[in-house]
Amino acid sequence: MKADIVIIGGGVTGSAIARELARYNLDIVLLEKEDDVAMGTSKANSGIIHAGYNADARTLKGKLNVKANPMFDKLAADLKVPFKRIGSLVIGFNEKDLQVLKREKENGERLGVRGLEIIQGERLFVIEPNLNPEAKYALYAPTAGIISTYEFTIALADNAVINGVKVLLETEVVDLVTEGSKVTGVKTNRGEIKTQVVINAAGLYSDKIAAMSGDDSINIRPRKGEYHLLDKNWGNFVNHVLFPIPSKVSKGILVTPTTHGNLLLGPNSHDVDERDDPATTASGLDEVYSGARKLVPGLSRSDVITSFSGLRAAAEDEDFIIGPSNRVRGLIHVAGIQSPGLTSAPAIAEMVVELVKETLGEVAPGKEIHLKEDFQETLPTPVIFNEEYETGNLDGWQKLVKENPDYGEMICRCERVTKGEIIRAIHRPVPARSLDAIKRRTRAGAGRCQGGFCGPRVVEILSKVLGISPLEVTKKGAGSEILKACSKELIRRAGDGDEI
Ligand SMILES: Cc1cc2nc3c(=O)[nH]c(=O)nc-3n(C[C@H](O)[C@H](O)[C@H](O)COP(=O)(O)OP(=O)(O)OC[C@H]3O[C@@H](n4cnc5c(N)ncnc54)[C@H](O)[C@@H]3O)c2cc1C
Repeated sequence: MKADIVIIGGGVTGSAIARELARYNLDIVLLEKEDDVAMGTSKANSGIIHAGYNADARTLKGKLNVKANPMFDKLAADLKVPFKRIGSLVIGFNEKDLQVLKREKENGERLGVRGLEIIQGERLFVIEPNLNPEAKYALYAPTAGIISTYEFTIALADNAVINGVKVLLETEVVDLVTEGSKVTGVKTNRGEIKTQVVINAAGLYSDKIAAMSGDDSINIRPRKGEYHLLDKNWGNFVNHVLFPIPSKVSKGILVTPTTHGNLLLGPNSHDVDERDDPATTASGLDEVYSGARKLVPGLSRSDVITSFSGLRAAAEDEDFIIGPSNRVRGLIHVAGIQSPGLTSAPAIAEMVVELVKETLGEVAPGKEIHLKEDFQETLPTPVIFNEEYETGNLDGWQKLVKENPDYGEMICRCERVTKGEIIRAIHRPVPARSLDAIKRRTRAGAGRCQGGFCGPRVVEILSKVLGISPLEVTKKGAGSEILKACSKELIRRAGDGDEI
């Protein structure tokens, strides 16, 4: 296989780069080792589009955060991704905190962050009634927002595919191919791809990819953050993203509504050794809960519907590393993309496009690059039963059911997802092939019962539509098969005295 550009990593960074490069007359392949895009850090984070007031203007992450924030209104509308600019409040309890808030405000104003304001007294409790009564001050940033992080990543990748990018899932880069001082391809578990430019957007593994070129200058340290997610009864308990006073390495344990009306508490922040271990700990979750209660004391743990963790890919100097490799030509690193990497992704993508143009100029001097005339900026608007249901008018839906009865069969009762929507997810440009991939695209299994009821039905639909045995259906790719054997087979084996 051959391509002009190979992107390693289907997180928000790689997917945003793929979409931005798809505007040009280039053959682009995006490689993702997992069975879906948005399986790394881009699946489990706070989903905040940061305003950027606390950005250090000398750092890349500071500059790109501030540049990218205003891009989200158009992007979310074009890609039909849930996004709300609900604003954020950093909460202060004393004079010392007030000085921090004032410094952050001045910093933000220097950077051009609009609408920053210090709020105090009664007004604080008018806009945020459930806030800790001991709170005295808050830095209000109206341009902060919330987004569904994995839906955004999937939509970027879908849009890239519609515009000609090939997304190869379950395709792991195991080595780089070089000739002299130039990258000429990548070796994957499925074969070799020849190319002129490789973009290393491999998140927690970006240092491993760099090392494949003999470059050991990048050193990624995983830093875990744990979360509690509360039931939708709590979605209106706060109105803004609530932050504590930040520490040097973290913005602290926040409390925020999600775009789908749940309440999210977390994350804490601990350096860990394992890059792939999503386990949560009782002590970590206690820390999250007590941290969140400092901001909102009325929270209750009885409505926690799930807990999870995400891993930040922190580079040594805590900044993004974006630029050409100093070892080999044709390799561009986009590494160390920790927070605010979700917010910065659209600006990172624009920066990488310029680097790709320069790199192609060096490694393929005769190649003409120009914008395509037929680039499709938008994704179609999906019909979503839950949204129609909440408007109280199901006339349109009834018409749809007449055309396709699958839209009349309810599969997930918690989140109100129909069979038609699940089948549509299986046929998206980046197709859903596992239970979790269906959940990320439709919310089937994301509700209070966490898939306890709809899980078996989704397995059945995946099996029928993909033409595979139910035993082959996975939770999240190979090795996570859900069913062990047909029950009749198990009964027979038990009769034979086998351990089952
Ligand atoms: C706890 C936490 C909270 C955060 N909150 C926010 C927030 O509120 N706002 C914000 O702006 N940012 C936030 N971030 C940061 C944000 O989540 C990340 O910056 C962003 O998701 C990084 O995306 P990425 O694409 O670079 O990495 P990833 O999403 O990890 O993607 C990298 C991909 O590369 C793939 N890959 C790795 N090696 C290979 C290989 N050899 N071959 C093929 N594929 C490979 C992986 O499977 C993965 O899918 C948070 C991060 C954490 C952990």
